[in-house]
Amino acid sequence: MLSLIKTSIPPKEVLMPRLEQVLYSGYVAQGEVVEQFERKFEEFIGGGHTLSLNSGTAALHIALILAGVKEGDEVISTALTAEPTNVAIKMVGAKVRWADVDIKTGNISAKAIEKVINSKTKAIIVVDYAGIPVDVKGIQEISEKYNVPVIEDAAHALGAKYNGRKTGCHFPFTVYSFQAIKHLTTVDGGALQILDRDLYEKGKLIRWFGLDKKLTRMENNISIQGYKYHMNNVNATIGLIQLEGIDELIQKYIDNGKYLDEQLKGIPGVELIEYYENTEPSYWLYTLKVDHREKFIEKMANHGIMASELHKRNDLHTFLNDFPAHLPNLDLFYDRMVHIPCGWWVTKEDCDKMITLIKSGW
Ligand SMILES: *Cc1c(COP(=O)(O)O)cnc(C)c1O
Repeated sequence: MLSLIKTSIPPKEVLMPRLEQVLYSGYVAQGEVVEQFERKFEEFIGGGHTLSLNSGTAALHIALILAGVKEGDEVISTALTAEPTNVAIKMVGAKVRWADVDIKTGNISAKAIEKVINSKTKAIIVVDYAGIPVDVKGIQEISEKYNVPVIEDAAHALGAKYNGRKTGCHFPFTVYSFQAIKHLTTVDGGALQILDRDLYEKGKLIRWFGLDKKLTRMENNISIQGYKYHMNNVNATIGLIQLEGIDELIQKYIDNGKYLDEQLKGIPGVELIEYYENTEPSYWLYTLKVDHREKFIEKMANHGIMASELHKRNDLHTFLNDFPAHLPNLDLFYDRMVHIPCGWWVTKEDCDKMITLIKSGW
C-alpha cells in the first residue's frame, strides 16, 4: 500500500555515529546541541527566534500564554485540523470559537474570523492545513484592525512560503511539530518561532519551570508559571542531521504536489485547491475535492493507494465544541475533501499511477 504518511530517518551511517557520540557524551539534557539546532533552524526559516521544545503541542501552549490568553478568554480557531491545535486552547482555560473555512482552500477564512471576533477574543489560531498556506495577507489585516495576535500552526507547512518567505516570518508566533510523520522529525519535538526578542526570552522561562538558565539555581527566583517543555541534546542531534537534508526532502513533496496540480486539472468529478496569491504550499499531503469520496477512497485502496480524509472535524469532539456553530463551507469542503500521498517516498511512477487511476473514474 502506498502510504499517505511516512517517517523519514537519515541513513544509519550518518545518524548512528553522531547519535552514539551524544548519547555517551555525558550530556544528554538540554545543552549546546539544542542551541546549535535552534540557530540552524532560525537560518532555515529566515526570520524570528527559535524556541525548541519537546512537542508542537508545547509550542501551541507557550504561544497562547505569550499571546496573553487567560482562563475565560476566547480563541478563534478552525475545526479542520489535528486535535492538538484546539486541545491547546483548553490548556490555558480558554474557549474555542470556530470560524468557518474558505471553500477554495479549506483553511480558516479571514472574513469568517471577522464575523466571530468579539471583545473576549484574545488570539486567532490559523492552520496551514495539509501544507497549504493560509491567506496571510487577509489574516494580517484582520489582526491589525482588531489588534488580536495570530498564532500560525504550521505543523503541516514547514517550508511553505508567502511572498517568497517561509512560514515563521509572517505572524508573531509560528508553531512547528517534529513528531514522527511531519516533514522534519526529531522522533518527538517541536518549535515555536517568535518574532519579538523579549517574548522569546520570556518563552525560554516558560519552557523550563520559570527558571532562568543564565542564572544559578540560588540566584533564580521564579515569578511565572513554567513547564518542562525543553528539547534535549539527543533529539536536537537528530534535528541537526535532519536539517542538513531538509531542503531536498521538502522539494520532493513540492515536486510531486506541483506535478499532481498540473496533471489532475480538468478531470470530471475532481476539483483542485486554489492556492492564495503569492503562496507556495509545501504539500505535506496532497489535497483535492472529489465527488463520491467514499467510492474514490475505495477505488484507490483497491489499487494499493491510501487515500483518506485523515483528520476528524474538531467540532465533532464535545470537549472542544464550546460554541457549536453552523459552518456551511466546512460542511461542503469536508464532504468532498480527500488526501492522497505526495511525500518523499512517492515516485513519479506512483504519481502517474494515481493520475491514470483518477482519470479512469470511480
Ligand atoms: C502534529 C500536529 C500538532 C502537534 O504536534 P505534536 O508535536 O504532536 O505535539 C499540532 N498541530 C497540527 C496541525 C499537527 O498536525
